[in-house]
Amino acid sequence: MDRALLHTAWRLADETMRPRAAEADRGDIHGPVADNIRALGEAGFFGLGIGPEYGGLGADEVTRHEFTEILASACGVTAFTQQQLQTGIKFVVEAANELLKRELLPVLAAGRLRCGIALSQLRRAGPPPLRAEQAPGGYRLNGVIPWITGWSLLDGFVLGAALDGGEHLFAYVDIARHRAALTASGPLPLSVMEASDTVEVEVRDLLIPEEAVLRRQPAEQLGRDERRGLTSHAALPLGCARASARYLRELAQRPGREALDGTAIALTLEIDQCRRAALTWNCECVGHPEYLTYALRARAGAIVLAMRAAHAAVVATGGRAHLKDALPGRLLREAQFYATAVQTPEVQASTLDQLISPFFGL
Ligand SMILES: Cc1cc2nc3c(=O)[nH]c(=O)nc-3n(C[C@H](O)[C@H](O)[C@H](O)COP(=O)(O)OP(=O)(O)OC[C@H]3O[C@@H](n4cnc5c(N)ncnc54)[C@H](O)[C@@H]3O)c2cc1C
Repeated sequence: MDRALLHTAWRLADETMRPRAAEADRGDIHGPVADNIRALGEAGFFGLGIGPEYGGLGADEVTRHEFTEILASACGVTAFTQQQLQTGIKFVVEAANELLKRELLPVLAAGRLRCGIALSQLRRAGPPPLRAEQAPGGYRLNGVIPWITGWSLLDGFVLGAALDGGEHLFAYVDIARHRAALTASGPLPLSVMEASDTVEVEVRDLLIPEEAVLRRQPAEQLGRDERRGLTSHAALPLGCARASARYLRELAQRPGREALDGTAIALTLEIDQCRRAALTWNCECVGHPEYLTYALRARAGAIVLAMRAAHAAVVATGGRAHLKDALPGRLLREAQFYATAVQTPEVQASTLDQLISPFFGL
């Protein structure tokens, strides 16, 4: 764990992000969210997952997990938006196209280029919303990208599309170069994360040159990769749960509210236990016969814990929890959002299992 890096992250979270989190939540992306993303870029945090040979920090998994939790405990919409940028970067890091990596990774690590991610269309059942076909010098794409976050801050994004014959294509799309082929909806009206500037994009005759292709792979590979990364997505809900526990601890300092300390301590112990499980059942254990059972339990456990912790914060607050800018209400909305972020059928089923009341059938 890189303590110096995390110290800087804590400082940014405490001094810059948490004090403006309510303003960030109710505004648009050009307010505190853009300021926070800029500050993270200047501090080099978009290089966390990039190796030093490409100008990045090459941080270990525990550091990256803790970094995400710190941000999610301070400002949910910033944490989620930057996480989508980190995911775009991860696809470039893992690409086979060395020339493109040498061009993009140093500027991404320095926070001077912002790359989003658009691949949820590949998880959709039925006819693919976005299709790619071979064309002279590259590929032609048509269809719809249902979700892409951070749109007006982005210079480019990693795009996944279905090819005929059961393959997926991943490519880097430079937005300025291809603007005529991309029609964005404008920020989607959302009950949570609205300031993330998440849009739907219509794609019409987008011509991707061969040089911008990151990789082609069999369609089944996405499911395998998402299984490997199951517990890496536990950090956002765990950070959200941590914010609720912190709020309850602060409430417990008030005269007559001391009993809330017990609730905060119990939740903190559960958060620590869930984090240990998430970090234990990481991608290195994927060959273990019980990997899927334990990784899904940790991932769904983090989702349900975030909701229970935020629920406790609401209950402990009373009616004022529902005032527009109240922290417990925002944490509950964020927890609810994390319940479907990067959702796969297995994560959905596992979360639903954990949500069934223990009193059912009694
Ligand atoms: C605010 C917001 C921002 C987002 N930003 C991004 C982004 O930047 N990039 C990005 O790639 N995605 C993004 N997403 C998408 C997100 O990560 C999830 O993919 C999405 O929330 C899951 O819902 P869906 O609409 O894609 O799933 P749907 O296609 O509506 O499917 C619902 C669920 O059913 C499951 N399912 C599908 N088929 C079957 C089946 N045959 N049997 C059983 N289960 C099935 C799906 O896996 C999914 O879990 C965003 C979503 C939101 C709400």
